[in-house]
Amino acid sequence: MPLLRYTKECLDAAQGKWPASGDWAGEDAEKRKDRPKTIRVFENDFIEKVFARSHPILPIVWFGPFIAYGLYDGVRIGGALQAAGLFVVGLLVWTFLEYLLHRFLFHMTARTPEERFRSFMVHGYHHEFPNDKLRLVAPPLMSWPIAAVMFAMPLLSVADQVSVRSPRSHPPAVRSPPHASVGAVGSEIVTIVPRIQLAAHT
Ligand SMILES: [Zn+2]
Repeated sequence: MPLLRYTKECLDAAQGKWPASGDWAGEDAEKRKDRPKTIRVFENDFIEKVFARSHPILPIVWFGPFIAYGLYDGVRIGGALQAAGLFVVGLLVWTFLEYLLHRFLFHMTARTPEERFRSFMVHGYHHEFPNDKLRLVAPPLMSWPIAAVMFAMPLLSVADQVSVRSPRSHPPAVRSPPHASVGAVGSEIVTIVPRIQLAAHT
């Protein structure tokens, strides 16, 4: 059985057939009362239980250590005040990103069956089955890739601080000054790859 095979009830729900209405955000809550609280999304047991659902406490378990390490490293490098300031900036940036995602992506008009399915999987499920406690927060299949991108950005920036030299005696790679702001991270990702390649060829 393919790992990511969807159940028939999930495919049907995405198209607005039983047990869903297809009118995700606009539906009267009264109409949902006879509906099951949850439906199965994947046929594979392991994927369904481990990667496609999440107890609300689990994101703290997965990401808590990364947050704690980030705070520790921030205090070590920039001091408690700067670390606390960046922590608050991070919260605000992520809250704003979530708002933008919800406003412009999650409720995009879906016309074709493919678009309806995509929209249902990204966010529609949450509106069709709002009382599904194990899908109130994003499950690993959704949250881990997003977290990996967010975590890779500062890591790439840190990697840039390490001088890259070949074993032969050549001038060291050009280093950029230490970053003082979060805004520097994006531009560093754009420039780090060619810089490392240049250093490897000198
Ligand atoms: Zn919504």
